[in-house]
Amino acid sequence: MDLKEKIRVIPDFPEKGVRFKDITPLLQDKNAFKYTIDKMKELAESLNADVVVGPEARGFIFGTPLSYAMNVGFVPVRKPGKLPAEVIRQEYSLEYGKDSLEMHKDAIKPGQRVVIIDDLLATGGTLLSTAKLVEKLGGEVVGIFFLIELTYLKGRDTLKGYNVESLIKF
Ligand code: IMP
Repeated sequence: MDLKEKIRVIPDFPEKGVRFKDITPLLQDKNAFKYTIDKMKELAESLNADVVVGPEARGFIFGTPLSYAMNVGFVPVRKPGKLPAEVIRQEYSLEYGKDSLEMHKDAIKPGQRVVIIDDLLATGGTLLSTAKLVEKLGGEVVGIFFLIELTYLKGRDTLKGYNVESLIKF
């Protein structure tokens, strides 16, 4: 199946010069969405993962059906102030300024094998921070999956050393 044709490219969103990759046509198409999750499950098959981790918000869209299909749990990674129990935090730099991500302290047990998933790999900053959160808690990142990879932004270099997979390349 050609998943790329299910991605709608919106010029100049959210600002001029950006060609935004809109995943909603893929999500609306039951065959394309199912195919996507089935493919991700295939990629995870040999990794023996114990848990799936997804950053908000679009990591939830792919992470929860994947964890269900793999019969493992799901751990959300969120922007500061959203998670109610004790958290650990990881800062990362943006083009202008800083942001951070949080995860519950008891979300990952030492030695757990973790697959991280998000919709899109751009610079890789979001996913590197997510991987660091997992590792701070003693988890092992065995795979980092994306629906879309913007290859020209070289996010793979940021995630060097990790097992990175993506289904669609731009
Ligand atoms: P990175 O940290 O630079 O790799 O940015 C990845 C994050 O930005 C992901 O969580 C994406 O959801 C979001 N993102 C950046 N560009 C796009 C886009 O064109 N479409 C959808 N999401 C995007």
